[in-house]
Amino acid sequence: MKKKIIHFYQYAALWITLSIALPLHAETAAIDNSPPANTVIAIPAYETCTGMPWPDIAWIHVHDNEETARRTALIILNQMQQGCLLDLRHGGSREIIIHNQQFSFHFDPNRIFTANGRKTALKCSKGNCALILQQLGAAAENFLQQYLSQKKLIIAVHNTHTAGLSVRNYMPGNSMAQDVSQIAISPNKNPHDFFYVTSAQAFNFFANHNFNVVLQNNQTVRDDGSLSVWAAQRQIDYINAEAEMGHTTDQLAMLAAVWAYMKKFYL
Ligand SMILES: [Zn+2]
Repeated sequence: MKKKIIHFYQYAALWITLSIALPLHAETAAIDNSPPANTVIAIPAYETCTGMPWPDIAWIHVHDNEETARRTALIILNQMQQGCLLDLRHGGSREIIIHNQQFSFHFDPNRIFTANGRKTALKCSKGNCALILQQLGAAAENFLQQYLSQKKLIIAVHNTHTAGLSVRNYMPGNSMAQDVSQIAISPNKNPHDFFYVTSAQAFNFFANHNFNVVLQNNQTVRDDGSLSVWAAQRQIDYINAEAEMGHTTDQLAMLAAVWAYMKKFYL
């Protein structure tokens, strides 16, 4: 039961913030894997565990402003009394932002998991931007290698908002339609509460449990550097439980279904 930290030097103080946010029974310890002195970027990853890690399963939260997702994931892990949440903490914003005398750049941390994605995602306005892109690539690859490349199932938790992404965006003729091969709409569920998955197995399971579900088309999906694209390239079963901010009960129900899915296929 431990928590590891890889951090931007600027974010060392976040340890205190995280300690306050931990569930009651989670044990914590910090390991500082400081990068070499000339390194600009490291991924600010924290790992919060409520028991032994699952060897084949990772839970991950990447957008620091999506608090409902973080909280519900920690609640479910606490109920399981096993497993870890890999949590990116970077000042409470959606994007990771570095702004100092030497550098100014920012990027969406869920767009850095492929080389194509990183090129588009990195918005750099000061410093050696080519070097920053190179280091972002190294940091992302190290992160994937250390935490995710050996896993068989990755569970990501996200939040959207009332005017944001919903299952409707993936319906035929809409903005995200080209990325999906199947979609299941539940008449009983809010369209902003939906699963986005990469396997037919997960699609069928959650659709049969009356959730909104989108199945990514792993052949035609646009390479935007998101974790779902990387997972599909590696043939790793990936589940994003996406719920509207503040829909705590709904997201908990979704994550309870993920637990049932884990038990059926992985435990
Ligand atoms: Zn998100």
